[in-house]
Amino acid sequence: MSFDLLKEQVIDRGLCEGCGLCVGTCKSITMKDGVPTLTGKCILRRGADHCGRCFDICPQAHPEQVPAEIEEPLAVVSVRSKDEAILESASNGGFVTTLFKFLLENGDVDAVVGVTGEKYSPEPMVVEKADDIPSLAGTRYSPSGVMEHLIRHQRDTRGRLAVVGLPCELRGVSRWEETLGISVLKIGLFCSNNMRKTDDGKTTKMTPCEYCTDFVATHADISCGFAGSKKGYTTVIALTERGKAVLDQALGAGLFEIGEADYSRVTASQARKAKRTPAEVKRPLRERIASELSAVGEATTVEIAQRLEAPPEKVHYHLLVLQQEGAVELLEDPSDPYRLAWSLKE
Ligand SMILES: Cc1cc2nc3c(=O)[nH]c(=O)nc-3n(C[C@H](O)[C@H](O)[C@H](O)COP(=O)(O)OP(=O)(O)OC[C@H]3O[C@@H](n4cnc5c(N)ncnc54)[C@H](O)[C@@H]3O)c2cc1C
Ligand code: SF4
Ligand code: SF4
Ligand code: SF4
Repeated sequence: MSFDLLKEQVIDRGLCEGCGLCVGTCKSITMKDGVPTLTGKCILRRGADHCGRCFDICPQAHPEQVPAEIEEPLAVVSVRSKDEAILESASNGGFVTTLFKFLLENGDVDAVVGVTGEKYSPEPMVVEKADDIPSLAGTRYSPSGVMEHLIRHQRDTRGRLAVVGLPCELRGVSRWEETLGISVLKIGLFCSNNMRKTDDGKTTKMTPCEYCTDFVATHADISCGFAGSKKGYTTVIALTERGKAVLDQALGAGLFEIGEADYSRVTASQARKAKRTPAEVKRPLRERIASELSAVGEATTVEIAQRLEAPPEKVHYHLLVLQQEGAVELLEDPSDPYRLAWSLKE
């Protein structure tokens, strides 16, 4: 049921941007040609009551996570790395790679999770040695599945990690952090869109992903891009206290030349992107369930299913998601899941 929901509401609608979070979270899901595919057994199909992790972690299933307004950053700066080896292959000012090298050399993190490979053929990479960091430098404009590796590495090592990702990817990472009660240092990349490359043997097609309204990566600790800086520099913004402390430390270490940042260019790009119609992950049944509960006060899964003429297992699933989101509460918990009684939270 649950993977079916992810498939129905995200993958089949073409909204999946290939972050790999669902793949990392469930061993039954595999990325096949850039598409998350159920290759094992989904426990909800075998009669279990509670799961839905793949749907819950998916950033594209939760467009409501993007705030209507972005908060003022705690710091804005334009930088260019002093490390010539990094600059050779960096996308702009080499900020991300230089920061990662610094964090590993200092022992502030045990590993960083990023992306290497060709411009349109990204390959996820987990780096534990500062000497291996330069191969991360540069931007790859294609979905990478990198977050599968973040989840697996954290599960295997429980180490202190830093990760770089697109706004959507970091939205999913922040959901995962909340669920596990952990904290990863999140470095965001500004994103107007990403390109998906498909090849049917005859033609290669590039399709842009424009399925969100977040340009700055609102869930990052630090975010960066070329907007607002002159050529060869990266505009860097600190969005959390943790991000500001890390940025201050890196600037204090004298790793960068400082340029002039024009933050109005960043807000202009954010405003342009915010005008887009957000990803239309329609959830009509879930919305109908919520409004039914608000009308009647409380009801069981079966009662709601009957009133809405919907399959009880679908209603049950949506109620579990609403519960995970804190929108509904469980009143009684009898052994039959479809007899659960629910009410809308205040
Ligand atoms: C798809 C995409 C769209 C972007 N769109 C914009 C834009 O519209 N405006 C703007 O100002 N900036 C945009 N950027 C950011 C910009 O291209 C640079 O990545 C950013 O300025 C950092 O440059 P740098 O020289 O400091 O980083 P570098 O030191 O060169 O390091 C880049 C880091 O990004 C990581 N990385 C590369 N590709 C990916 C990927 N596909 N997914 C996740 N991590 C990756 C690498 O692992 C590396 O750690 C975009 C980036 C991407 C990936
Ligand atoms: S609902 Fe759970 S078991 Fe089923 S595919 Fe999703 S994460 Fe895996
Ligand atoms: S979690 Fe990521 S890879 Fe999985 S369906 Fe959602 S966007 Fe696609
Ligand atoms: S527009 Fe960029 S940040 Fe938004 S979903 Fe697509 S790749 Fe992710």
